[in-house]
Amino acid sequence: MSDLLLANNLIRQGLEGLIPYEPGRPISLVEKELGIEEAIKLASNESPYRPFPKAIEAMREAILNVNRYPDGGSTFLREKLAGKLGIPISKIIVGSGSNELLRLLANVLLNPGDEAVMAMPSFIVYPTVVKLMGAKPVEVPLKDHRHNLKAMTDAITARTKIIFICNPNNPTGTMVSRDELERFLAGIPENVVVVLDEAYFELVRDASYPNGLNFINDKIPVVVLRTFSKVYGLAGCRVGYGIAPEFIVQAVNKVREPFNVNTIAQTAALYSLDCDDEVEERSLLNHEGLQYFYAEFKRLALDHIPSHANFVLVGVGTDGRKISNDLMKKGVIVRSGDIFGYPRYIRVSVGTPDENSRFINELESILKDRGKRTL
Ligand SMILES: *Cc1c(COP(=O)(O)O)cnc(C)c1O
Repeated sequence: MSDLLLANNLIRQGLEGLIPYEPGRPISLVEKELGIEEAIKLASNESPYRPFPKAIEAMREAILNVNRYPDGGSTFLREKLAGKLGIPISKIIVGSGSNELLRLLANVLLNPGDEAVMAMPSFIVYPTVVKLMGAKPVEVPLKDHRHNLKAMTDAITARTKIIFICNPNNPTGTMVSRDELERFLAGIPENVVVVLDEAYFELVRDASYPNGLNFINDKIPVVVLRTFSKVYGLAGCRVGYGIAPEFIVQAVNKVREPFNVNTIAQTAALYSLDCDDEVEERSLLNHEGLQYFYAEFKRLALDHIPSHANFVLVGVGTDGRKISNDLMKKGVIVRSGDIFGYPRYIRVSVGTPDENSRFINELESILKDRGKRTL
């Protein structure tokens, strides 16, 4: 039998519509392929800084114990989160990144034919986990680059099980304010789960930004997702957490892998929660990085979408993929906006001050060269 026939027979139906996630390319790979050194990655909204020293020290110790299985219940980490957030431990789930939690939520909530409402463009993982369950993503276009909450409410049907709110939204960096969220939640039926994805929570500095935890005891089931992958600098460890109604936590515990979060990740996360000053410092550095970008974009007469996160979409006035390829050749890895529906933009993550200015310098010279060639 041909591979195609085998695939048709063996691979589960419904996967045809799925495409593998295209991540930002790792630095070492780009360096090897292009034969260059010192590439910088501003493509995946990671922290440009190492994990906090306390976390690194704890991880070094933890390495010695990896002959044992991890604590399957992530008990210490959940206890610590419970104390810090003022939430009962029974409402806390920990996952191998919040990506795993997104998939687990889909696993326990969605029947074939159910619907999940989400913005478009938003986090690419939402439609993937929904389709995986044979359910239907209902994608509601952004309005002025922001969630169109009215249209999302109107998109609810009898089949709707989940609404995803990515706040701030990846890839646009725009946010839903406290007032907007309150009004929106008041209009949602109580049999729909609202997932508030707050991956960039610690980086938002706007006073009108809502804390999803304040809606946990709402009349409707709200799930808040956060992660250690961004401001905590632990993207490579894979650890995130969710706060959810107990019936959802219990369902997730039935289907998650018994040891879903590895020992190193649990340890690093636990110790990172003692680093509030460092979190604030990095949040501030990120804010300054954004302000630097905005000033430079203005100088270069480039349009941008103001962001509340650690990345920004910048209009490059031409095919974003070409510009991102040109940047790649200079060792600066960013994402082309086309995959997000912004073909004339690139998405750049905030790096260290040195990385930010290198990006700007390379972008400026690429745009100048292109300008000359078209004259
Ligand atoms: C980065 C990001 C996450 C975090 O994913 P992890 O699996 O925790 O690394 C979740 N949601 C959004 C919108 C993100 O941008």
